[in-house]
Amino acid sequence: MAKLGFIGLGIMGKPMAGHLLAAGHTVHAFDLNPAPVRELTSRGAVVCKSNKEVAQKSEIVFIMVPDTPDVEAVLFGKDAVSEGVKTGSVVVDMSSISPVATKEFARKLAAMGVNVLDAPVSGGEVGAVNGTLSIMVGGKPEVFEEVKPYFQIMGKNIVHIGDNGDGQTCKVANQIVVALTIEAVGEALLFASKAGADPKKVREALLGGFAQSRILELQGERMIRRNFGPGFRVRLHQKDLNLALEGARSLGLSLPNTAIAAQLLNAVAVQGGSDLDHSALVLALEGLANHKIGA
Ligand code: NAD
Repeated sequence: MAKLGFIGLGIMGKPMAGHLLAAGHTVHAFDLNPAPVRELTSRGAVVCKSNKEVAQKSEIVFIMVPDTPDVEAVLFGKDAVSEGVKTGSVVVDMSSISPVATKEFARKLAAMGVNVLDAPVSGGEVGAVNGTLSIMVGGKPEVFEEVKPYFQIMGKNIVHIGDNGDGQTCKVANQIVVALTIEAVGEALLFASKAGADPKKVREALLGGFAQSRILELQGERMIRRNFGPGFRVRLHQKDLNLALEGARSLGLSLPNTAIAAQLLNAVAVQGGSDLDHSALVLALEGLANHKIGA
């Protein structure tokens, strides 16, 4: 059984690390927040005092933290992975962060003899808990093959996209689809509700037709039930759409609806909704309509 490390045991990382433990692997764990580490210890994880210690004790280190500066801190900050990591070991960043920074981090670690994969995920908390995540991977094919058995414990649809950074580019594309679909579902349910139709029945009917989607099913239900606890936080989706819009700017590309979805999330965040689930994007649409779904 492999000696694994897991850094970042939040909404996603804790269940993902739990699957690796349940499969019989040794998991060295660290998070700035001690509570989830304690919980995993009771299921067999080895507690570490720092990211450096995780790297010292592990052959493959998985990272699942919020944003680009967090990954940078984990890799190169105080008591960082780069201070403990051994030549020939693998660092797998499963967070959703900047493709540009990802290439730079991979270059710096490669110079230390460390192999790197970017492997962001889609499927949300439900996918993490059920071990059914979609995993999009950037890095060398032989490193991908080495880590694939562990990806298969945490996910179902595992695709090697290309070089370092390409996994993150794929994830940004994913987040464009997710945001625009949430926006579309929000508009549709708001329209139906304002017109006097029962949004529950409308969702039920739409789920059997061409407008069917996982987002209509899950986020649509959240909008109707007013269940906006996270889930996937608004501020994390703001981060992802900012990556899309920064990328578009540097590519000279126009992404008009991504820009609108980003503005709607900004409106929710500025009213105190940063830590709500991203389905709360509908709150901004409801504000514009002066109507709540189901009211
Ligand atoms: P989260 O905020 O619940 O968890 C992140 C964890 O990282 C926290 O426990 C935090 O203490 C820890 N952390 C931060 N900096 C650290 C450091 N320097 N050293 C050690 N630990 C550190 O976030 P999450 O929802 O689990 O998301 C993690 C990543 O996964 C993000 O990039 C997000 O975009 C992505 N993602 C989330 C979802 C989702 O539905 N939540 C779905 C797909 C992808």
